[in-house]
Amino acid sequence: MELRKLELIEVRVRLRSEFETSFGKTVERPAILVRVEEKGGEEGWAEVVADEGPWYSYETNETAWLVITKFIAGQLRTDVSARGFPALVSRIRGHNMAKAGVEMALWDLEARLNSRPLWRYIGGVRDRILSGVSVGIQPSLEQLVRVVSGYIEEGYGRVKIKIKPGYDVEPVRRLRKEFGEGLRLQVDANAAYTISDIDVFRELDKYGLLMIEQPLGWRDLVDHAELARHIRTPICLDESVQDLGDAKAAYLLGSALIINVKPPRVGGLGETLRIHDFWYGQLGRPIWIGGMLETGVGRGHLVAAATLPGVKYHSDISASSRYYEEDIVEPPWTLNKDGTISAPERPGIGVEVLSDKVYRMAKRRLEVPLAQGP
Ligand SMILES: [Mg+2]
Repeated sequence: MELRKLELIEVRVRLRSEFETSFGKTVERPAILVRVEEKGGEEGWAEVVADEGPWYSYETNETAWLVITKFIAGQLRTDVSARGFPALVSRIRGHNMAKAGVEMALWDLEARLNSRPLWRYIGGVRDRILSGVSVGIQPSLEQLVRVVSGYIEEGYGRVKIKIKPGYDVEPVRRLRKEFGEGLRLQVDANAAYTISDIDVFRELDKYGLLMIEQPLGWRDLVDHAELARHIRTPICLDESVQDLGDAKAAYLLGSALIINVKPPRVGGLGETLRIHDFWYGQLGRPIWIGGMLETGVGRGHLVAAATLPGVKYHSDISASSRYYEEDIVEPPWTLNKDGTISAPERPGIGVEVLSDKVYRMAKRRLEVPLAQGP
């Protein structure tokens, strides 16, 4: 492959409804789309999922734009490969979402050049993935019940609700009462608690949750291990696992049984595969794939990751219409009647990016000069 172009396009997409987590509310989502192009004109697309503020991660759209244009592009040789990319940018510490934006665009490009769907290209084993829905914090429990019942009707096979202090045991109790033990239910705290809140988790432990996601600090592994010793519900880590090293430490300490792998959080699909091969391949433990309110572009990469053999739970990958009125890809991602999303057989991420629309929507756009090479 001979790379000849790297382009960044910032767009803003409005969510259908406000999404609230323990960090705050999101109404409009900024996204930096990354487009790479090789000599023959074939292209690859991906998305930087950093937000406006450093809430989920320290990265923001502004830092990602800066790091890609000022530091990553300069390392990007024209003979780069998706697998070789991490070594080229290893001098840059952190900034996984910025790195992942470029890395995943290279994976898409390579898969297209090989005329293969991305999911097959990375070793995926299933042509449909189990789709779960992530439900933000609701203004009332009545509203929560309404929203959840709507998603169950649409066919989602698992419900995850966001929790925060003061909005935790009650919503879970209410959902169990309304929908029974049969509902696949889990909670995500986005690191909103400390180990001194252990009684909240002892209480949640009574409700047959599939897992409790990231209850404690975003850099913590030690207190999670302590908490794990006191409850039966499996702990799932999200924010605390930034790379394979964190996964190994989590295993040695006993911090979690499950990992929600978000490819952008760990630097891209290469590190996703490494974590998968350790956690599932060596330990036999399950993972699943989380999302960051991606547009249809980023969603394509998530779908590919969710076809890996170690993905044993429903992933937070829902239909385009869950978040957006109109997507920027064609066809939009849709939910099958059986609560799955099909992994497309077309090359790359398997959907066409509506580039005219994307360019019309662009708040800014930049073609970044590449390093010379090889
Ligand atoms: Mg999470």
